[in-house]
Amino acid sequence: MIVFGTKGYLYHLATVTLVCGGCGNPTAHAVRRRVTKFTLFFVPLFPVSTSYRTQCAFCGVERKVTAAEAERLAGPGGVRGGGSHQR
Ligand SMILES: [Zn+2]
Repeated sequence: MIVFGTKGYLYHLATVTLVCGGCGNPTAHAVRRRVTKFTLFFVPLFPVSTSYRTQCAFCGVERKVTAAEAERLAGPGGVRGGGSHQR
């Protein structure tokens, strides 16, 4: 029997101050990368999808952003170095 599936990983990239689209307050937003990895026998092999989101610390609204936007928000070196495992 072959056991396979996917597993989600969440990487915290940066915390930036943005005007929230949900509550309209200029508050801290967490910039996160979500990576879904294909797993075989519970061993993650390769990423199948990657998405970027910001989350408002005030109201908790999440907004999907592009990789380029997340990179810009996180600043130089923030998103680069793909294999980092910071939370
Ligand atoms: Zn908000």
